[in-house]
Amino acid sequence: MKLKKILSAIFKKTGGSKTLIYRIKCKKCGEIITVRINPGTDMRSPYDDDAPENAAYILTKEILGGKCQNIINIKCYYDASLKEISRDISETGTFI
Ligand SMILES: [Zn+2]
Repeated sequence: MKLKKILSAIFKKTGGSKTLIYRIKCKKCGEIITVRINPGTDMRSPYDDDAPENAAYILTKEILGGKCQNIINIKCYYDASLKEISRDISETGTFI
């Protein structure tokens, strides 16, 4: 996929195979799920109208723990230096 190649090239240049870590709690069973985000493969350019003005990347991910079938969706925006601008999570989980 072309976009991924471009993104990974950008991240290589800015020194980042940096991994972001989120800890998420499943609201159904209480499991704490650690999610590792690889910016080069998990993020893309935002295309939707909801994106903050300075957003350079968006992350959307479906998270499923090991204990139940409760799916948690997260959506985060980042600026060009990968600083998180906003975060959103479905009703089924919480950031901790
Ligand atoms: Zn669960």
